[in-house]
Parts: sequence; C-alpha cells; structure tokens
Amino acid sequence: MPELPEVETVRRGLEEILKDHPVIDKIELQRKDLRDPIPVKKVRSLIGQKITSVERRAKYLLLRTPQGSLLSHLGMTGTWRVAKPGDERDHDHIYLHFTNGLRLAYRDPRRFGIFDFVALEQEAQHPKLKALGYEPLSESFTGEALHKLLRGKVVAIKVAIMDQKLVVGVGNIYASEALFRAKIKPVTPSLKLSLEKCEKLVASIKEILFEAIQAGGSSISDFAQASGESGYFQTRFKVYDREGEKCVICGAKIRAQTLGGRSTYWCSSCQK
Ligand SMILES: [Zn+2]
Repeated sequence: MPELPEVETVRRGLEEILKDHPVIDKIELQRKDLRDPIPVKKVRSLIGQKITSVERRAKYLLLRTPQGSLLSHLGMTGTWRVAKPGDERDHDHIYLHFTNGLRLAYRDPRRFGIFDFVALEQEAQHPKLKALGYEPLSESFTGEALHKLLRGKVVAIKVAIMDQKLVVGVGNIYASEALFRAKIKPVTPSLKLSLEKCEKLVASIKEILFEAIQAGGSSISDFAQASGESGYFQTRFKVYDREGEKCVICGAKIRAQTLGGRSTYWCSSCQK
C-alpha cells in the first residue's frame, strides 16, 4: 500500500503535469464505484474548471479547481499516469481529459481506491477528511503538540503514532523506523514519553518521511510514480523486516513482535 511519501511523490508528479492549469474537458468513468460509489454527477460538475493546484491531506490527493476539488485515494494499487491516445490498459477506471489534449488515467487493479468530490470550502466537513490529525511534515506538528496528544494515553507509542486521528500518514514501516531513530521501544506506554522524547520522535518522523520522499518513496509495494514508470529507489530500512539481523548501530539482534495487529521491529539494546 502506498504510504505518505509515495503519495507525496505522486502529488509532486501530478503538480508538474498539471502546472499549466489545464481545463477539465471530460471525465470518463469506466465504472461507477471503486471502494465507494463515485458521485458521478458531482464529479462531472467540475467539467469546464481549471486545475488550480494539486494538494495532499494525509494520503488523499486533492485536484483543486475554483468550484471544488476532485479527491483521489490510491488504496492498495492505484496509480495515475499520463495516457497518450492508444494507451488504454486493463483496470483503467477513470480518464480525465483536458482541453489541452492531456489525458490522465487512473488504474487500480484491486479497486481499493477512492474518487470523490469535495465541495468548495467544505473540506473540513468532508467525511474522509474531517477526523484527520496533524500533518506530520507541517510546522504545527511539534514535540509539544505530540506530548499533549499522548497525555493520559496508555496505548503503545507505536500504535499511537499510527493513529490517523492523532497524526496522519505514519504507516507501519515508518513508525518502526522513526522509533528506532528516536531510540524509543515501540511498546512504551504513550503517557510515559517525556517532552524531550516526544521532540526526538517528531524530529525522527519528519526526517524519515523527508528521506523517503527524497528517495521517491519505498519500493516495496506494487506501485508506480505519477508518470506511470516504476521508478522507486530501494529504501534501506534499518529495523523494518530485519528480524534476527544485526542492528546497524550496536550489532544486537533486531527483534520482532506483533503490536496492534502489525509487525513491529526494534533493537532491544538501542531502544529502551
Ligand atoms: Zn541497536
């Protein structure tokens, strides 16, 4: 499943492709639903509008127009690509045609993606967007903010930072890696984290996500960049999926356990 860095990479790709603010000419839907039904009429109400920007909230992409936005979630296997005439593929569910001749295709074999409409200035109330926590890369996500969020929470810190209502887009891999970098054991009860540890953890989350974006996202999923090319560099994980291997810092064995239903990796020596 694409995580936040991959989605941010797709956003940047789409932003580049749509930088001339093309006007939507036609929205061709090969089917009326993905994970959820597509609100066909509402989506098509944006025909004739120009794309003003491509933004991201959590793992939702927002193609903004002056009259509202198209919301896209890639689910497990969704990709956007520029599709020249003749480039139609199995599992292409949506074609966005623009008046400048550009055509974007949304392909999603497993159909866990979402394609929706967001009314102008209604983003804060949109059911998919309203309960989302902090953007991890935003300036407002600080150690102090995290410390406040964790007050009174007994849940394991790894489970907490993966809770989208607290902070969005910290998936399973990045949670393990950030905790390793901050030298915090994943099972530590959230309320036991000092302000200093929260600051370290927030800094680590930001660093890990930035590095992954720099590398073009992780390459472990069936996923392609906005251009349609599979072009991710292999990200070197320091603990994730390294059970039994040596810690890159101290040489101790990397441990693994299931936590909150997800595989969790840590170094028992570095992370106390
Ligand atoms: Zn270690």
